[in-house]
Amino acid sequence: MLDAIYDNIVQAQESICIDVHDSLEYIHSGYHKMTLYCLGIEGTAHSFGAGIVTSEGEVLSNEWDMLKPAQGGIHPREASRHHSELGPKIIKDAVQKAGIDFQEINLIAFSRGPGLGPCLRTTATIARTLSLKLKIPLVDVNHCVAHIEIGCLESNFDDPVTVYVSGGNTQVIAFAGGRFRTFGETLDIAIGNMLDVLGRELGMDFPGGPIIEKQARNGKEYHNLPYSVKGMDLSYSGMLTAAKKLYSEGVSIPDICYSVQETSFGMLAEVAERAIAHTKKKELLLTGGVARNTRLTEILSGVARRHEAMFHRVSPSLAGDQGAMIAWNGILQYNAGHQIKVENSHVLPKWRTDDQDILWRQQN
Ligand code: AMP
Ligand code: MG
Repeated sequence: MLDAIYDNIVQAQESICIDVHDSLEYIHSGYHKMTLYCLGIEGTAHSFGAGIVTSEGEVLSNEWDMLKPAQGGIHPREASRHHSELGPKIIKDAVQKAGIDFQEINLIAFSRGPGLGPCLRTTATIARTLSLKLKIPLVDVNHCVAHIEIGCLESNFDDPVTVYVSGGNTQVIAFAGGRFRTFGETLDIAIGNMLDVLGRELGMDFPGGPIIEKQARNGKEYHNLPYSVKGMDLSYSGMLTAAKKLYSEGVSIPDICYSVQETSFGMLAEVAERAIAHTKKKELLLTGGVARNTRLTEILSGVARRHEAMFHRVSPSLAGDQGAMIAWNGILQYNAGHQIKVENSHVLPKWRTDDQDILWRQQN
């Protein structure tokens, strides 16, 4: 498999004749004070993405593809095969769409974790190969931190409380003491995972989240579901079981979807509201794939309004898992003096958001 990836990448390189010495000179000459081009590679779960972002924060390209299993959930081995098969083409397309050549890329950033081990390893292998081949620095990015920073880039927010909701994560995060601290998170399954599994049970295609949103608009009657907030943490597995039970009792799909959305989003709003009230931060950011949901956006913008905080929902193309966020975080880290040697770049499937010193932000 590695040979196949390598061959693909080498072919792409050979067609544009890289001069490694030029690219090294470019980086070390101080010329980099002008514009840096970072290729960001994302592949923590079922999506593989590649994006090019400049040091000025311009997103030049953002190509991606998501594995959509015909039934059931994501199998890590199948997802990693998807990444190794499609990865080289997605990267080539990203470079081409950015209107640059491979030799103009100054650094490679990759999602080092958290995520599914096989997917992370495939992604890291592609990133390492490119870094070695192009002789340019490699930067290891925390996937969750990248979701926050791309949101800050887009919104111009300095220091938000972030609600990060996706297929694999549900966290309420804020910066304190040099790190992004997780103020609250799911104790079991992520909200996106809950929606996707429920969607399957209700006979929907994958991913279920957007279909549930559409169905919920026609819901008329609210049915009680477990509202499970424990301190600042949340739990969604009981809601999933209870929603399945409603279905087996003949409750209509729109009513189930409506009840699930109102309850699960209400729980998030409570935790976000307490985080805002406690930290007194004046910005609320909504990011991750579930941020595409209009009802969740409405509810959280209401929370922000009540606390006189600004609100931003990351735009759909930057909300889910994609390479541009990894590229932008790569730029931030690199400019703060951080890069990683290939031999130290083993993946971190359980890398927590609060496990990284955030060197590029001022301590608060
Ligand atoms: P990510 O893991 O960040 O790529 O996001 C993927 C997750 O976002 C999946 O669980 C989707 O079901 C979910 N998602 C995407 N669009 C929506 C939506 N409109 N409403 C709710 N969930 C959504
Ligand atoms: Mg994500």
